[in-house]
Formats: sequence, structure tokens, C-alpha cells
Amino acid sequence: MISQRTDKLLAEPQGLDDQFRNNYISRLVTTLTAHWSGPQDYYKLLGLSKDSDDRQIKKAYRSLSKKYHPDKNPDDDSAHQRFVEIAEAYDVLIDPELRKIYDQHGHEGVKQHQQGGQRGGGGHDPFDLFSRFFGGGGHFGRGQRRGQNMEVRINVPLRDFYTGADHEFKVNKQVICEACEGSGSEDGQRDTCHKCHGQGMVIQKHMLAPGIFQQMQMQCDVCGGRGSTVKHKCKKCGGHRVVRAEESFELHVERGMPQGVRVTYENEGDESPDWEAGDLVAHLSEKEPELGKEDKEKTDGTFFRRKDQSLFWREVLSLREAWMGGWTRNLTHLDGHVVRLSRERGQVVQPGTVQIVEGEGMPIWRHEGDGPEYGALHVEYVVVLPDAMEKSFEQDMWNTWEKYRKKKGVDLFADSGRPIPKPSGHDEL
Ligand SMILES: [Zn+2]
Ligand SMILES: [Zn+2]
Repeated sequence: MISQRTDKLLAEPQGLDDQFRNNYISRLVTTLTAHWSGPQDYYKLLGLSKDSDDRQIKKAYRSLSKKYHPDKNPDDDSAHQRFVEIAEAYDVLIDPELRKIYDQHGHEGVKQHQQGGQRGGGGHDPFDLFSRFFGGGGHFGRGQRRGQNMEVRINVPLRDFYTGADHEFKVNKQVICEACEGSGSEDGQRDTCHKCHGQGMVIQKHMLAPGIFQQMQMQCDVCGGRGSTVKHKCKKCGGHRVVRAEESFELHVERGMPQGVRVTYENEGDESPDWEAGDLVAHLSEKEPELGKEDKEKTDGTFFRRKDQSLFWREVLSLREAWMGGWTRNLTHLDGHVVRLSRERGQVVQPGTVQIVEGEGMPIWRHEGDGPEYGALHVEYVVVLPDAMEKSFEQDMWNTWEKYRKKKGVDLFADSGRPIPKPSGHDEL
């Protein structure tokens, strides 16, 4: 699982030039003597649980070693120290025997075991690990190539935008082969190409005319421009150094997040040993509302419509309710709380009236200060007239209208300001 708040990861290095390596090792020594304060829990250091498998350990190590790599953190001694500790933790946890000893006897046990001779004193060069992951050759520095960003669209229900929610989503992407650590080689061995001697390019001569040659630089056809070849291809990736895999990501939908918001997972795009992975960008949009199976999916709120911080709802009233009042509606909001709408007897609601209920709209995203924490809910009233009536009811109503309309009538034409046709005389209540 990868969290969306990942720190920007370091470019995938191709190796280290000697000057850099020497500089780094001397800085490393300083760091170690100046800041060493005793070992930390290896699992905690890598952000893992005790039952993590090799794949998780490798993954954690890969991303942390990029994050704390000295090139990413120039002049930051604590990052350098971290980098070394992470390498040490990885070294132990990835070795089944050492891991077992560590689980049972802790740091002391591992130390004793290593001093017992088999491991040669416990000192190690973090760059060994590093080169294991990132292969040899090439240059390590700024201005590396970067892969394209990957875009995914994720639909979440309106309710999640209201209450906030955690989701997991899966992305099928290109990842560095775990089996060969991106070397493409079964035994981790890459040999310098015999044709181009590691340059990746060869000079070819073309004869343009007898005695006249043109020299052209071409990509080496033996190694495909990589400068190195592999005798025993990795079985998992077939020497391609990358495989396709499904990875899970954690998505935290924040309360009130706007639709269309982009959540960036830095350097989580397609991986390759040849470039720095681009970002994975998740676009959040709102799912079409549907009546789900769970109770929480059956609220009125499920069918609220949203525009920015406002929510909209259409409430239907019968003729009697609109006209005579004396009614109550309990709207269940997106989180299940009830918004009560009502009118006393005698309170008329005209069709098309919009009632604004403050504080019942969307939460304000990342609310700060004293302003309102929520937008408003806009309730539009629609009045439905009965189109079939019982005969006796119809008769009663008719008589009632007849009785009162002449007494208390309103002249609609006079009110409307339109020219009065002749003959006038249609009164209505
Ligand atoms: Zn492989
Ligand atoms: Zn070659």
C-alpha cells in the first residue's frame, strides 16, 4: 500500500561516478561518527510490520533509500545517517537467517552473529545495496530523464465528499522487476558490451563513393544502446528489467474536496531503471447517484446535487400541503442526520419556491478561520396537483369554490397588468 502523501522520490540512479562516491563516503564517515545514537527498530525504520514479505521489504527500501539518498539531501547529515540505517535494516530483514535472529534476539543477536565470522564484522557499503537495485553504469546526477505522468480517474459517491473517506484503488503499471532488481540478469551480472565497449553507440562507415566514406554514430545493435549485455536473462522479466504489476494506492477523500480535484502520488508512475518515474495523478469525480444496498446508500442525500459548496434538492408537495400548510418532511442527509422541513397550518408555499437552509450544504474544504463551515442546502418546492379525484370529493370541492369565489375573488387580469379583455368577470380564489 502506498500513501498519497509520499515524499518526492529521488531519481533512479544508474550508478555513481567515482568522485561522487568518494565524496559521499567521506561524508558518510563523518555522519556516522557525529550522529550515531544506537540502532532503531528495523521494521519501524522501514515503516513495515513484522509480517511483511520480501516484496514489501524491497519496496520500502527502494523508496526510502531514494528519499534519503545524499543526492536528494545535499548537506543534510541526518538524512545521510538515515540512509545508512535504512540500508542496514534492509540488509538484515531481507536475509532470512538474519531476520530470524533479529526477530528473536534483536540488534545484539545480529551483531553477535556477524562477529561470529560468517558475515565479516557487520560493516557494509550501502552502495552495494544501491547498485543491486539500480544496476551499474551510467551517471548519477541532475537532469535525469523522467517518465510520463500517469492519469487515473476515480469516481467516488457524493457522500464521501461530504463525510470524507478512505479508499484503496489499484493501478496496473510498469514496475522494476523484483527478481533481478532491474538488472535483467538472472545472476545480477551485466557484462560490458563487447561491440561498443559500454558506449551504447558505434561508429559506422558508409561508402558514399569509391574512396569516400561517411562516418555515422549509430545505436549499438548488440546491447540496444545500453552498453551492457546479460548472459543469463532473468526468468521473470525475460531480461526486460521491468514487469507489469498491479499496485494498490490509498486515497484519502477529504471533506468538501472539490470535484475534479487532482491527487498526486509523486514518482508513482511507470517505473524503469532508465528514468525517474513520473507522477501518478488521480482525478476525483463524482459518481452517478444510485440506490445502493446498504442503509447509508439509501438516504435522500444520495440524490442531492452538488455545485461547489451548495447542495440542491427538490421536494414535492401536494396541493393541499402547498396551500394549507401543516406538513413536515424529514430529509436524511448524506451522513444520516435529519434535516427537518415543515410549515405550520396556514403557511402557503408557492410552487417553485426555493428555501435556503444554511449550514446544510457541503463542508468547506480545509476550513479555516471564523467563516461558515458548511455551504447551504437549496430546497426547491414542486407542487403536484391531483389529476384524478373521487366523484364526491370533486363535487364537494366544486361547490366550495363556487361558494367562495364570488365573495373573495382576485382578478388575475387586473393583477397581471395585462390589457383586460371584454367581457371580463372570471374570478378566482
Ligand atoms: Zn527480472
Ligand atoms: Zn553495445
